[in-house]
Order: sequence, then C-alpha cells, then structure tokens
Amino acid sequence: MKPFGYVRARTVPEAIEAHTSGPAARYLGGGTNLVDLMKLGVETPATLVDISALPLDAIEETPEGGLRIGANVRNSDLAAHPRVRTGWPVLSQALLAGASGQLRNAATTGGNLLQRTRCPYFQDLAQPCNKRAPGTGCAALAGHSRDLAILGTSPSCVATHPSDMAVALAALDAELTVEGPEGTRVLPVTELHRLPGAHPERDTTLAPGELIAAVTLPPATAGAPSAYRKARDRASYAFALVSVAAALRLGPDGTVQQVRLALGGVAPRPWRALRAEDVLTGARADEETFRRAAETELAQAEPLPDNAFKVPLATELAVATLADLATAQRAPEPQP
Ligand code: SF4
Repeated sequence: MKPFGYVRARTVPEAIEAHTSGPAARYLGGGTNLVDLMKLGVETPATLVDISALPLDAIEETPEGGLRIGANVRNSDLAAHPRVRTGWPVLSQALLAGASGQLRNAATTGGNLLQRTRCPYFQDLAQPCNKRAPGTGCAALAGHSRDLAILGTSPSCVATHPSDMAVALAALDAELTVEGPEGTRVLPVTELHRLPGAHPERDTTLAPGELIAAVTLPPATAGAPSAYRKARDRASYAFALVSVAAALRLGPDGTVQQVRLALGGVAPRPWRALRAEDVLTGARADEETFRRAAETELAQAEPLPDNAFKVPLATELAVATLADLATAQRAPEPQP
C-alpha cells in the first residue's frame, strides 16, 4: 500500500479544511469500501480525512414528520430504527438486503451512497478502465458483462452502482444536506450520482471537498406501503442482479393514486423509473398495467451480450413488487 497522510477531523469545517488544503484527499467513514480499494491500489489518496468522529450520527424527526439521518449513522442502526421500519420499510429492507451483518455494523449512511462500482475490471489494475484510469478504455465492453448495466450506459463505461440503500432513497425522494467549501446546499438524492457519459471517472455531482452531512426523508405517505425486492445469485452478501424499490398508494376505485419506483443493479446510478410511473399513475392497479409500465421503462434498455436476462428479470420483479403492494391495500374479498 502507498504511504498516505491521516487527519482525524472533529468538526465539519475542520474536515473540509483538511480535505481542501492538499491534493488527492478522501473522506474516510466506515472504510468498508475505500480501504479495500486502497489495498488493491485502485484508490491512492495522499491524505485520508477521517470523519467518523463528526457529530453526524443522529436520527431525528423533522418538524414536517420526515426523518433526518446523520451521514455517520451505521447501516445496521438505520435498518433497525423503529421509525424507519414502520414508516419507510423499503429503506430498512434495502439495508438488510445489502452486504453482511459485520459490514452493516461498520458502513455509514454517507459512505453507502458513495461506494464505488464492483465492476471486476475496475478493481483489476492489469485491465483498462476509464473509471479508474481515464482514457485507457473499458475492458468490460469485450469482457464478461453479466453483472453490468443495461440502462444509462455510454461507450466509455457500462458499470452498475452497487448500493441497495440508494435505490430505496431514490424511490423515497430523499434529499441530501451537503457541506462544502462554498457552504451548505440541499441536493435531491436522484441528482447525486452521474451517468458516465464521456467522464465515468466522476461518480457523483459533488464538488471537491464537499461531504454529505445528512439524508432527509420526506414524511411517509399515509396508506402507501413500500417494499424492496432484490434478485441475486445467493441469499445473502451478494450484489443485486436487479432490485426494485417501490411505494404505491391506491385510490378507493382501485386506481393508482401515487407511485414511486426505482430499479437497482441495472444502471450506473439508482434508476428512478419515471416512464413507468407515468404509465401507472391514474391507471387500474392490475397486473396488466404493472407489466405495461415495467415494459415501457425497460424499452430503453441496451443489454450487453451476457446480460439481456436483466430485462425480463427487472420486468417480472417490478410486476411482482407492485402486485404485492396493491394486494396489501385491497380489502379482503367477502367470504361466501
Ligand atoms: Fe471500468 Fe466502467 Fe468499463 Fe468497468 S464498465 S471496466 S468500471 S470503464
């Protein structure tokens, strides 16, 4: 491993100052992804700014009835929080579907959002990778593409974003509080991650020195159950082949009053399925509508040689998730 400097920050301004005062600094939270990448030689920061002691570890109700989650809240604590489990079950389920118990105990909310792709070529220094070394090419295009993206890709990069939690936050319309050298700003979580375009080396829209201080959930919509479903190669400790985060509210006439749908494992960022939401809103909540909505969203897919299976998998997973949420809201049929 290359030598690097280490600064333990006690306040947010101190952390930002330490990050911006020298080149190639990185913030260190739980370290569950960054330290691994440093061991592989993929990440080579000159300085680590340890933000784990910052006072960003609270989960608090907002005056509007939402929830403000500090960036240092551990994934385990967030998944188990009673308000999260009852008000925003999609978030708790997504967290519990990710990683292992040990990793969830160490990983933070901010770090989960900022984890990097698990594209195997990104982690292999012997392979060309535009995300790791801009301008070198993309080994995945002619390589093993089963786990890679089908939506939002570019000729420069076809990697997926690995976070489950971020997919749930995209479906919840969460907002981020971002602190940086220019002050504080609020950023919708759907605007945090970039599509690769010609610059896959830039994962996010954060400016140099900016750090995520908190995630805010809007108030949970009454009567709109939510859920997260994940298809993966084994039952635990595996990244999503495809995942679905959804919240659905039906009207008294059985039509869709409100829906929010996001897909994971299919794109370089959590994929908010806006085309599907347009089809669903106001339509009858039945399997035919759910299928038409999912197929409309997936019509934009551009599969690679090994991952065309993700199109029907995402379609079926979305249909099943929406059907379960609809069934949970319908009154039971009267018994003869
Ligand atoms: Fe690198 Fe992206 Fe290509 Fe993977 S898909 S090798 S991360 S450029």
